[in-house]
Amino acid sequence: MISKTMQDAINDQINKETFSSYLYLSMAAWFEGQNLPGFGNWLRLQAEEEREHAMKLYDHLLERGGKVQLKAIAAPQTEWKNALEAVTEVLAHEQKVTKSIHDLYETAQTEKDYPAQVMLHWFISEQVEEEASAAAILENMQRIEARDTAILMLDHRLSKRSAE
Ligand code: MG
Repeated sequence: MISKTMQDAINDQINKETFSSYLYLSMAAWFEGQNLPGFGNWLRLQAEEEREHAMKLYDHLLERGGKVQLKAIAAPQTEWKNALEAVTEVLAHEQKVTKSIHDLYETAQTEKDYPAQVMLHWFISEQVEEEASAAAILENMQRIEARDTAILMLDHRLSKRSAE
């Protein structure tokens, strides 16, 4: 049986992962509205991944006899100044999620919750990848700055992405 403290902390993380999914879906819609479907493809995939993250936590709670408590999801932003600003936000958001995963891990340590610690190892590695992938796209964008043709090339590259 999982402790109430750990259960509450995991339920909060489910909400954060679900919000991430919502945020990326909102960004995908914005990019597609800008006629950048490759960025839209990338962010739709990211949104799917975030939902899977929420479900991993959801399943963990159920497996441990915990109670899943879904909370209200905040409305994400719908407009960005430009593509660079949006991708900068993806990286900043992932860094925030990494911090909350680390906080959750610390709670699991304080609670001496070993199964949760093992489950969270996956999330800790996943965040390293998420940050690296967002940072790489951001770096490309910073390099090309406002050159629209180069942004279109990057858009084409991102349209080839598929779920990992
Ligand atoms: Mg996530």
